[in-house]
Amino acid sequence: MLRVEEDAVRATVADLTRELGADRVLTGTDVLRQHGTDESWHPPATPDAVVLPRDTEDAAAIVRACRDYHVPIVPFGAGTSLEGHIAALQGGISVDMRELNKILRVSVEDMDVTVQAGVKRRQLDERLRPEGVFFSVDPGADATLGGMIATGASGTTSVRYGTMRENVLSLTVVNANGDVVVTRSRARKSSAGYDLTRLLIGSEGTLALIIEATLRLQPTPEAMSAATCAFETLEGAIDCVIAVLAHGIPIARIELLDDVQIDAVNRHAELHLAVAPTLFLEFHGTPQEVESQAEEVREIAAEHGGPDFAWASDEGERRRLWRARHGAYDAARALRPGARGFTTDACVPISKLAECIAETKRDIDDSGLIAPIVGHVGDGNFHLAILVDPDDPDELRRAVELNDRLVRRAIDLGGTCTGEHGVGYGKAPFLELEHGPAALEMMRAIKHALDPDNLFNPGKIIP
Ligand SMILES: Cc1cc2nc3c(=O)[nH]c(=O)nc-3n(C[C@H](O)[C@H](O)[C@H](O)COP(=O)(O)OP(=O)(O)OC[C@H]3O[C@@H](n4cnc5c(N)ncnc54)[C@H](O)[C@@H]3O)c2cc1C
Repeated sequence: MLRVEEDAVRATVADLTRELGADRVLTGTDVLRQHGTDESWHPPATPDAVVLPRDTEDAAAIVRACRDYHVPIVPFGAGTSLEGHIAALQGGISVDMRELNKILRVSVEDMDVTVQAGVKRRQLDERLRPEGVFFSVDPGADATLGGMIATGASGTTSVRYGTMRENVLSLTVVNANGDVVVTRSRARKSSAGYDLTRLLIGSEGTLALIIEATLRLQPTPEAMSAATCAFETLEGAIDCVIAVLAHGIPIARIELLDDVQIDAVNRHAELHLAVAPTLFLEFHGTPQEVESQAEEVREIAAEHGGPDFAWASDEGERRRLWRARHGAYDAARALRPGARGFTTDACVPISKLAECIAETKRDIDDSGLIAPIVGHVGDGNFHLAILVDPDDPDELRRAVELNDRLVRRAIDLGGTCTGEHGVGYGKAPFLELEHGPAALEMMRAIKHALDPDNLFNPGKIIP
């Protein structure tokens, strides 16, 4: 892919240095490398400069300067995305949102909060905890809310509370013309016009720069309890999940770890779980609701080859379990020091999940690769962390082929190549297979209408 012309970059950097100040425009080698490199195995690509806006006016000035000189803009949150999202494929300006990190208002009455895009998930959690409310979407990494909106993220509690798509009320963005746009009011419902908010969720920095967001909050449940339950077979564990959902039990979290991943988590988080396919579960509600939900799930699990619930004894133990679950990726990587994690993200209708995982497990065995499985199984979504030696081209090829077969399997089963990580440039080759040429043409038309000069994150989603 061609990089942007040096003269255009030089002129943009000079304008922005004059307008924002020299301390806002960074060009050091390490900073550039860090901003072009994500957590994935995809080759990085460095931007030509990193710019740090302090407010909406700065952000609009950056977009206008890039528009004037036709220089690409790559929005940057925490850089935890997994499909080469933040690689500056044509160079240009990485817009690092770290200083737009204020929580602007919290309303317990309206159950909503307005944040700047650079606010991080844990920062928001700490601010909300004393208010007796929480924001429910919890990806494993400490991502920014802007990045989570831009990737359409989800997490362990999405089975009950929904993904970013269900939890964003309104956005303030800067569009490709440098104009500030508010997508919607803060009202709970609105039928007023096209749904710009939903269009921008999952747009991966390809349509606009997100500056602020108003998010839905949930009341902190009166009681929470967590348990693990080991199963004789993977199929038994998945059938248990299907039965729990079919019974309408409002389970708050239901996550699957296969035997390889449990072994990794045991070593990494010093747990002593039986090495078997295991569900991590959590129940929210009043003490009576939690008890009755747990009892129902315990009975269902026993019918599917999971006779023993191991309860978290107290709040500390509950947090330890979920920390271990959120650390699953690091635990997997520690199985093979020096290896890179090649993560997959298939998502299928839940009735097809057992079939998809069983075939994938056979495929992993045939490939000779190590690939622990962990999944938000209540949503039909699971990840492999394929551990590859980045310097071994044959291993990398086998990992690429394994992922390719998995994506095709998921799509054949009525699913998607990505449940939550997004497309970046890693999944872009699969979009036509998943959506067909006409739908892709519609997406291309939207991109062209909103960003005619292809300024925003070029080469992503639809190359
Ligand atoms: C250990 C680990 C566990 C993970 N677990 C999960 C998980 O459970 N669920 C899940 O969904 N994801 C998960 N992820 C992936 C990642 O955390 C999410 O994709 C997250 O939403 C990315 O946020 P970020 O702030 O790091 O964004 P970045 O990586 O910085 O950016 C991601 C994309 O969003 C765009 N972007 C960022 N900020 C803005 C903005 N303000 N305006 C416009 N565009 C913007 C960027 O251009 C880029 O295309 C995990 C990653 C890791 C490393």
